[in-house]
Amino acid sequence: MKGTKTQKTPKELKAWEKEKKLIPVMIRKYCHGKHKAKGEELCEECRALTEYALFRLEKCPFKVNKKFCSFCRVHCYKPDMRERIKDVMKWAGPRMIFTHPIFAFRHVFQMIGYKRKLRKEAKAKANV
Ligand code: SF4
Ligand SMILES: [Zn+2]
Repeated sequence: MKGTKTQKTPKELKAWEKEKKLIPVMIRKYCHGKHKAKGEELCEECRALTEYALFRLEKCPFKVNKKFCSFCRVHCYKPDMRERIKDVMKWAGPRMIFTHPIFAFRHVFQMIGYKRKLRKEAKAKANV
């Protein structure tokens, strides 16, 4: 229709938008593999985790040029939810290489950068 434009996501929010789409995909993959859920079904625990993760993402103060939650210094998750999402990432992350390679490699590159940054900070601290 003439005059109607679809709203484009600003570049700096693209990673955040992508994460909102892919977190449920990862949790579903995990639930299928570990809890034997089928199709669109999720077990109660994974359904709660999906809702919680999406809620946290919506409230995230680091939406702009967002990095993965695993490298966040604040980590806003409750301890039990944090343990659950860590399990999901550990299990589903490597499996994303085949279905969502760009997302998976972005995670690997961010992890390398994050570890490098931690090493630099530790070195600087040791030199004080
Ligand atoms: S863990 Fe950090 S990056 Fe992830 S949603 Fe919470 S505040 Fe945002
Ligand atoms: Zn499950």
